[in-house]
Amino acid sequence: MSEQELRFACDAMLRGLARWLRAWGWDATWTYGIDDAELLDEARREGRIVVTADRGILARRTVKEGRPPAVGVSNAEPPLEQLFRLARDLGLERRPSRCMGCGGALHPVDKASVEAEAPPRTWRWRDAFQRCERCGRLYWEGTHSDRIRPRLDALERRLAAARVQLRSLPGAAVELAAGSGKAAPEGGAPTGEAAEEEGPASL
Ligand SMILES: [Zn+2]
Repeated sequence: MSEQELRFACDAMLRGLARWLRAWGWDATWTYGIDDAELLDEARREGRIVVTADRGILARRTVKEGRPPAVGVSNAEPPLEQLFRLARDLGLERRPSRCMGCGGALHPVDKASVEAEAPPRTWRWRDAFQRCERCGRLYWEGTHSDRIRPRLDALERRLAAARVQLRSLPGAAVELAAGSGKAAPEGGAPTGEAAEEEGPASL
């Protein structure tokens, strides 16, 4: 599975992380109240990596055997911190944001075609519109509010700093490659994002 194809299925506790993953540009599903069996079925069916804060899921024999593959996150951490660790450990680069509602890819649409659909003021003042290929939701420049983008920018800087630090630590890369989960000490300054509990606000 190449990095380009990595897709995720977040457990029921990780709504905030799913939304941040989408904002970061990665396809992640999240379903309210989904139980373990359904989550694992979905991941197997759709070729997704389970992301879970539930140690019980990670301890399952089939999961240990990679059917489906799964990664653990700590539910004691806020979603952005969970995303930081996931992005660092799996090498997830920032990509164009995906649909915050469902994780689908966004594609440009012609402004004239959405005049009836977009709020009148938005339509008048914005030129770039995008639509989710999966759920059809309409987005426009500025949909990802000024509140979200700076935090993605900060995360990107922090990851870059972590990579620099990683390269300077002999053996750290080997540990990561072995999937031990014991990554190098964090790089970068605290970003002050720890207080955020939920994912990006609904848009
Ligand atoms: Zn969508």
